[in-house]
Amino acid sequence: MEPSFVSMYGAMGISPEVLTFGEEIAASLKPRFEEIDRIAEYNQLKVVHAMQKNKVSAACMNPSSGYGYDDIGRDTLERVYADCFGAEDALVRPQIACGTHALGVALSGNLRPGDELLSPVGKPYDTLEEVIGIRPSRGSLAEYGVTYAQVDLLEGGAFDYEGIRAAINERTKLITIQRSKGYQTRPTLSVAQIGELIAFCKSVKPDVICMVDNCYGEFVEELEPTQVGADLMVGSLIKNPGGGLAPIGGYICGRKEYVENAAFRLTTPGLGKEVGASIGVNQSFYQGFFLAPTVTAAALKGAIFAANVYEKLGFSVVPNGTESRHDIIQAVTLGSAEGVIAFCQGIQAAAPVDSYVTPVPWAMPGYDSDVIMAAGAFVQGSSIELSADGPIKPPYAVYFQGGLTWQHAKLGILMSLQKMKDAGLVNV
Ligand SMILES: *Cc1c(COP(=O)(O)O)cnc(C)c1O
Repeated sequence: MEPSFVSMYGAMGISPEVLTFGEEIAASLKPRFEEIDRIAEYNQLKVVHAMQKNKVSAACMNPSSGYGYDDIGRDTLERVYADCFGAEDALVRPQIACGTHALGVALSGNLRPGDELLSPVGKPYDTLEEVIGIRPSRGSLAEYGVTYAQVDLLEGGAFDYEGIRAAINERTKLITIQRSKGYQTRPTLSVAQIGELIAFCKSVKPDVICMVDNCYGEFVEELEPTQVGADLMVGSLIKNPGGGLAPIGGYICGRKEYVENAAFRLTTPGLGKEVGASIGVNQSFYQGFFLAPTVTAAALKGAIFAANVYEKLGFSVVPNGTESRHDIIQAVTLGSAEGVIAFCQGIQAAAPVDSYVTPVPWAMPGYDSDVIMAAGAFVQGSSIELSADGPIKPPYAVYFQGGLTWQHAKLGILMSLQKMKDAGLVNV
């Protein structure tokens, strides 16, 4: 390691031992990183191709206000998303407040009283429980007479095809498939697996709507779920596709009819996609989407680096150090409250924003234990930026994700390791 690096890392608080340990692991990951760069290259072409095809122009960067009629920037961006993801249509809006909102809009826009919603991949993301009414909540789908059925994955993560066949009935209108494991221990689904699952569901019921919660999955592979049969695909712009630049927003893309149904819910029946000013966000949406393939690659490298660092130190990591990746989340089981706290404090200490604050566990609404969160993000709560969080309860796992650049993700992991070492929890 060059002396200038040792002293610069030293100035950041990273000891030579931690640096050397990290360097050796980073060096061993070169072939893996090359593969990630190849996927980013492919996806970069995909994005630019869609932008060129739709004649993105300087005028597209301009803001609109009021009703936002004929907002050429907004309408063109939606064409760009649709083409890039192989979909007929897309809704990409700052009026979509977050990923949960996007999913809620897609579901409530396409389900009617008496319909049934099916999840064939187990329990959905926590925040969707109240949207669906799994946990009773005001205004849930359940209150509007939409029922919910669930088929869990089999031991080992395989689809329970027989269970799914049995669960699909004449009322099954929409099947929701969550790509990422979220904060569960099941494996994340690959796009190919999602394609197989959709093909199976359609073989049982050809007109069922297959929707994919694509949060954290965009640009991790060359194909997206809409390119293997998904009728709807939904995600958040403060995760992968916003490229770290989108300050807010979500997207819903897929078949025209279903996207329009969602638009009629986001605004109103009749108005649909026609209204919704882009105010000042167009440029950051375009530029973020342009950067998204490489930003996602950086976050993936950080996740793989973290997996290998902590695996080598004997901790259990999901996915493991060598597995193929289908989202950007990394879970590390640290086995103690002190470990979770030290890890998160290290991530915070590496941040460009709020690095001087010390995160501590607290009782967050909606959680059944104290939770510690580390995030020093330019965009509040943005989890494509370097961030980590962990509930203070067994097995004491932290979930780590993001990093707008690989170099910053690396610093964050080294800093987490340094804090672990300083607390006497690891020996490097
Ligand atoms: C983040 C996430 C959501 C919800 O997104 P928010 O923006 O936090 O509302 C839904 N599903 C999955 C799998 C996610 O990762």
